[in-house]
Amino acid sequence: GHEIDSVEMFFFPFVGGGHQIPMIDTARVFAKHGAKSTILTTPSNALQFQNSITRDQKSNVPITIQILTTPEDTEITDTDMSAGPFIDTSILLEPLKQFLVQNRPDCIVIDMFHRWAGDIIDELEIPRVIFNGNGCFPRCVIENTRNHVVLENLSSDSEPYVVPGLPDRIEMTRSQVPIFMRNPTQTAQFAERMKKLEGKCFGTIINSFYDLEPAYADYTRNELGTKAWIVGPVSLCNRSLEDKKERGKQPTIDEQSCLNWLNSKKPNSVIYISFGSVARLSIKQLKEIAYGLEASDQSFIWVVGKILNSSKEEETGSGNWVLDEFEQKMKEMDKGLIFRGWAPQLLILEHEAIGGFMTHCGWNSTLESVCAGVPMITWPLSAEQFTNEKLVTDVLRIGVQVGSKEWGSFDEERKELVGREKVELAVKKLMKSEEADEMRRKVKVIAENAKRAVVEGGTSYGDIDSLIQGLKTRRIASQV
Ligand code: UDP
Repeated sequence: GHEIDSVEMFFFPFVGGGHQIPMIDTARVFAKHGAKSTILTTPSNALQFQNSITRDQKSNVPITIQILTTPEDTEITDTDMSAGPFIDTSILLEPLKQFLVQNRPDCIVIDMFHRWAGDIIDELEIPRVIFNGNGCFPRCVIENTRNHVVLENLSSDSEPYVVPGLPDRIEMTRSQVPIFMRNPTQTAQFAERMKKLEGKCFGTIINSFYDLEPAYADYTRNELGTKAWIVGPVSLCNRSLEDKKERGKQPTIDEQSCLNWLNSKKPNSVIYISFGSVARLSIKQLKEIAYGLEASDQSFIWVVGKILNSSKEEETGSGNWVLDEFEQKMKEMDKGLIFRGWAPQLLILEHEAIGGFMTHCGWNSTLESVCAGVPMITWPLSAEQFTNEKLVTDVLRIGVQVGSKEWGSFDEERKELVGREKVELAVKKLMKSEEADEMRRKVKVIAENAKRAVVEGGTSYGDIDSLIQGLKTRRIASQV
C-alpha cells in the first residue's frame, strides 16, 4: 500500500529535571524517526529546552513546542518542586483539553505524574502512552514487593527480605522503600491508581535498553504484562556540544572553563559528584562529603545543588559558610571544582578525565553514567533510588556502595548521616582499586551496547519504529 502521512505524537512532560529532561529527549528521538512530535508545556519550562528544539527544526526534524497557558497565567515551574515532587499540575486541565479537542493527535505520551489527564484523554479516545521515567528493574522490584505484601511480615526496618519472584536474588530492607509503601492502605490505594492509569493505556515507554536488563525487560513484558516499548537511552540523542550543555538549566560555571579544567587532568582521575535535580542535603552532610573528599586526595567536580534549610546566599556561595572556605582551598590546590547549582552533566561524564560518579542513583543519572562508561559510587536517598543501587552494584556490578541505608523524603532532614570515613573509603575503592578496574572494563562494554541499541538494527531503534508503526496501523483501522 502507499505511505500514509506521518503519525502525530504529543508529549506532555511533568515539570522539572529528572522527569522533564528524558521526556524532551524522547520527543526528539521520535521526531528523528519521522513522527511529528509536539511538546506540550508552560512558558517557563519551555525556556529550558527551546534551543535544542530550534536546532532540531533547523535540520528539518519535525518537532514543535505548544505552550499551554492557564487563564490566570499561573506558571508552574520546577522551583515549585520545593513544595513537593508531586506538585499539582492539574490547573493545566482546561488548556490541555481545549488543545486536544482541536488537534487530535495519533497518541499522547504523558508523564506518570499527570494521572489527572487520563480521564479526559480517554474520553476523547486518543491513545494514551505512559512515560514512567524508570527502568524495568526498579519497576519489577517495586511491583513485586508491593504485590507479595512482604513488608508487613518483617520484624524490623533493617531486617533483609528477598524480593519475591525475580530473576536474581535481590535483598532489600524496609528502610530502603518509600515510606508510603510501608503503609498497607496507602500501598493499596497507590496500586489501585496505577491500575487505573495503566489499565486503559495504549502502552508504556521505558527509557532503558534491552541489553542493560534483559531478564527484567522480559519480566516486565511477560510477568507484569506491561506493553512496553523500551526506547533508550534517550540521552544519546544529544550529539552536539550545544545539545549536551543545554539540557535543563543554565550551568553555574561555564562549560568551557569546566572542560579546560578537565583537560588538564589525567584520564580516570576525577570523580564527579551530584545528587540530581531535587534532593536536598543538610549542611552537616555536605561537610562530611567535603572532609571525605579532602581525605581521599582525589580530584573532583562536585555539584552542590539545593541545600536543606538554607538561604539563597548560602546556596550560591556568597553566604558565610564553611563550604566557601573549602571551595577556595580546593581551587588553590587545583583539586576540585564546585558547581553551586547546575552542571552540564552529560559533557562532564563523557570527559575521559572522569573515572567515577558519586550519584544518588536517579534513573537518568544512572543511565547517563552507564552510557559514558563510568562506574559509580551509589548513594541512594529517596524515590526508587535504592532499587537502582541494587541494579548497579548487585546485578551489573559496576558500582561501590557508600553505605546509605535509610530512605528519606527528598526535602527533610535525614535520620542517617553518612560519615566522612565512608566517603573517603568509597572514593578510594572506586578510584584506586583493582576491583574498580574490573568495574570500569565492564561498564565500558555496557556503554557500547547502549550505543548499539539506539542505531539502526538496535533494540531501542526497533521499538521506536514499532510504536510508530502501531499508531499508523491503528489510524488506518479507524479510518476504515
Ligand atoms: N542534571 C544536570 N545537571 C545537574 C543536575 C542534574 O544536567 O547539575 C540532569 C542529569 O543529567 C539528569 C537529570 O538532571 O538527566 C536528573 O535526573 P535523575 O533521574 O538522575 O535525578 P532526579 O533529579 O530526578 O532526582
